[in-house]
Amino acid sequence: MKIGFIGLGNMGAPMASNLAAAGHDVTGFDTVTKAPEGIASAASAAEAASGQDVVITMLPNGGILRTVADEVIPAMGPGAVLLDCSTVDVDSARAVAEQAEAAGLLAADAPVSGGIGGASAGTLTFMVGGSEAAFSKLSPLFDIMGQKAVHCGPSGNGQAAKICNNMILGVTMIATCEAFALADKLGLDRQKMFDVVSTSSGYSWSMNAYCPAPGVGPQSPADNNYQPGFAAELMLKDLRLSQQAAEAVDADTPLGSDATRLYSQFVEDEDGRGKDFSAMLPRFEKRHRS
Ligand code: NAD
Repeated sequence: MKIGFIGLGNMGAPMASNLAAAGHDVTGFDTVTKAPEGIASAASAAEAASGQDVVITMLPNGGILRTVADEVIPAMGPGAVLLDCSTVDVDSARAVAEQAEAAGLLAADAPVSGGIGGASAGTLTFMVGGSEAAFSKLSPLFDIMGQKAVHCGPSGNGQAAKICNNMILGVTMIATCEAFALADKLGLDRQKMFDVVSTSSGYSWSMNAYCPAPGVGPQSPADNNYQPGFAAELMLKDLRLSQQAAEAVDADTPLGSDATRLYSQFVEDEDGRGKDFSAMLPRFEKRHRS
């Protein structure tokens, strides 16, 4: 396929490289970074989008996505697909898809999980919102860039799945960290705590696969001085999106709201920026009941 790729950052560059390595003809554009080897470089987003079968965006937020969409949609030919893989608010995802479809294009939102490692290895998971036609046209590309793609329903549902998943992740990570800090104060050895919880009803991905206690459980960012991994500020971004969406549809999310407040305090006032999101454990360790 002829593919335009807009947003060649930490995630976009390796995703574009994997598509090119699989034999697709990829032209890239980024306002800051240079196109990686094997990717032709365009002078603008519109130029990167013109005459392509598929245009992929991997951008920081919904505002930027809307600006880029205004530029690329008029440059794309009928029947082409606009695929946004960024994590953005549900409203922006739905607005951009509507705009693309009104212009005779197919559209899908497909945020990812798997991080930079998954982007490089081609093992991302895609959560896809959009029509059946868009999903089936894009499936071969999801197979190259990822290991799994779930069609979650119409436009915006990929973003909905992503923020609901990450709201659970933020809440369970906080619960796991506060429980470890409580166990410490109760004199319960961390390894024993892991042995019990990881095989009991308190188990979760945060405990079993990404244990926030160094030296306990499988290798995780905790074993590397909390270098990310998944940075606390990216977790905060996703939690804020979850609360923006909850407000828009009048959903009661008390724990999502508390998790957002805690990660915001951690990132903005407590030196959490640049640390893995599991560094909530050393944060709780230092604190007292107030
Ligand atoms: P990044 O900041 O490294 O990359 C974004 C790129 O977009 C940058 O290179 C920037 O120059 C470019 N850009 C900004 N405005 C532009 C414009 N108008 N036109 C063209 N290019 C423009 O971010 P990233 O880590 O690659 O993340 C991209 C998206 O993926 C985000 O929405 C993020 O939330 C999501 N995501 C990131 C991770 C992760 O681990 N990094 C994991 C899952 C999802």
